[in-house]
Amino acid sequence: MVEKVEKRAIVGWRNLALGCAILEAGSSTQLLTGTWRLQHPVIDQQLCNRCGLCYIYCPDMAIIKTPAGAYEHDLNYCKGCGICAEECPKKAITMVEEEE
Ligand code: SF4
Ligand code: SF4
Repeated sequence: MVEKVEKRAIVGWRNLALGCAILEAGSSTQLLTGTWRLQHPVIDQQLCNRCGLCYIYCPDMAIIKTPAGAYEHDLNYCKGCGICAEECPKKAITMVEEEE
């Protein structure tokens, strides 16, 4: 699933338009916006009850529901805000610091 998204991400944040202007409607999936993240979420699938709250709360649509019904993070778009970890009722998401 992530591999599919990587093909859509063609512009890194350093190459955004001046003023972060949106020059083309519906172009957000082409922007690789997860690279300034300081930490990333990791889901413990054993604890996850598949309630979908992380998917609903993520402000960047960086959580994907797989055909099997599991939830996974798409780190190409995750900003590391930690909202999903904060809202998960099962405490199944842990925020882990990025390595240099
Ligand atoms: S909020 Fe937590 S329990 Fe619910 S789907 Fe997301 S990771 Fe699983
Ligand atoms: S850390 Fe923030 S941006 Fe990343 S998946 Fe969770 S809610 Fe979305």
